[in-house]
Amino acid sequence: MKNKLHFHYDFEPRAILKAPNAAQRIAWMKQAGVETVWLDAYAYGTHLATEQELMDAKKLLEQHGFRVQVLTVPVGHGGGALLGDGGDPGIPPAWQSRINAAGQPVAFASCMRGERMLDDSRAVAQRYCELGFTEIFFDDDLRAGPWGPALQGCCCPACMRAFGQKYPQYAHLSAPEIFAAATEGDDLWNAWSDVQCDAVQSFLEQTVPDGMTPGVMIMHNGDRRHGVDIDRIKKRYPNALFRVGEGHFEDASFTHPLAGDAIAHSIRAHLCAIGSTENAFSESTVYPENALSPEHLVQKLRLEISLGLRNLFLMSGLFFLDEPYWQAIADARPELDALAECEPVELPGTPNDFIWQL
Ligand SMILES: [Zn+2]
Repeated sequence: MKNKLHFHYDFEPRAILKAPNAAQRIAWMKQAGVETVWLDAYAYGTHLATEQELMDAKKLLEQHGFRVQVLTVPVGHGGGALLGDGGDPGIPPAWQSRINAAGQPVAFASCMRGERMLDDSRAVAQRYCELGFTEIFFDDDLRAGPWGPALQGCCCPACMRAFGQKYPQYAHLSAPEIFAAATEGDDLWNAWSDVQCDAVQSFLEQTVPDGMTPGVMIMHNGDRRHGVDIDRIKKRYPNALFRVGEGHFEDASFTHPLAGDAIAHSIRAHLCAIGSTENAFSESTVYPENALSPEHLVQKLRLEISLGLRNLFLMSGLFFLDEPYWQAIADARPELDALAECEPVELPGTPNDFIWQL
């Protein structure tokens, strides 16, 4: 059983309640062997369904034998990552925006210390707990900033104050001075990233009710510079779920000559920190709609399984995967199940020189 694959998929409640081909969608998922559905319930401070719809979808899916849990996009992506460029909702006006080093608000993204955001997030998670959900996955916007090697973080007055209080030796520095002076791995860099990790940790501690297990999705190559400290989250939540970061969810980036190595490096780095495959999930994402071909999705699943992942998390934003994807997965299941019986592939040394290229 240890090597058994477990497929997961997420979508909005209405994708199964309102779609004319809902019965077909359920059949596709069953055929491909999806076992757990994560209902997309709350994103950017907006409910994606009424509570009645959420519960109707849960009940319907459970009647068809699925495990059903809940997923939110808690603080907003710093860019169009839900519906595509320009299509994403903004965060509520009452939420404090993330502020960059130049003092400008970052579009679509909330400060992780914003009190109103924390209040709202606490209330929705508490309600999901009362409604019978036991696990809540937070999409990978739960971080301090975008992909890349640069140090990230919020420079709003509350965040600057938190930094100055924890590291008074740097309290005299302005945000631009911090970003100009910090060098990866030095004391200032570590101090700044530590305070960003505090914000993610505090979000979990303030919003996840007792009785719920949090899941944290990590961006491709995401680490402390982005405010994500897997070790620290694990210490507080030993059973926490983690989705590793892989990126490369469209054909152009997936077929880059270095893509396989780049994905493998990120998977391995995150798996090492997570420490087990039991609570680790893949990023088997197709995004934007149909951007990664079914053949490449299956190829990505092979790579994930060969590196030790057994929870395969299919994601496709708010688009529901179409028939060719389900057919491709169903056709590949015998091969993928056999691959899962093999020992994970050992990788050669850490290829640091290219990880921020793509
Ligand atoms: Zn802030």
